Amino acid sequence: MSLERFLGKKYPEAWEDAPIAGIVPWPGSTEEVDTSAWRTFKPVINQDKCIRCRLCWVYCPDGAILEVDEEYTNSKGRTFKISFKVDYAHCKGCGICAYECPVKAIDMVPEER
Ligand code: SF4
Ligand code: SF4
Repeated sequence: MSLERFLGKKYPEAWEDAPIAGIVPWPGSTEEVDTSAWRTFKPVINQDKCIRCRLCWVYCPDGAILEVDEEYTNSKGRTFKISFKVDYAHCKGCGICAYECPVKAIDMVPEER
């Protein structure tokens, strides 16, 4: 069931439009709300430096690191079957992923709107 159908009205698409004391109808329902507007810095993953350790995926408090089936061969000739991408609709720009990355493959860059 969609949020719209459950609530009988359209759920806000951005966090600024959420009503005060708004409800969370079920776990994960906020996935339908774009939370990117409060980000001032955004993480950018350098695919060539990334060693696919998954630590960013583990530490991200918002589940905004996605593991995708995208093959990548780095400049040293090593081929990985997967890649990691940022879900920019839900990343809040906290920088935890960049802090935890063991090879510093994630840069936090100023958000441009
Ligand atoms: S900056 Fe924070 S919210 Fe965004 S992907 Fe990294 S850990 Fe997740
Ligand atoms: S923590 Fe760094 S090296 Fe590990 S998967 Fe994420 S970006 Fe790649």
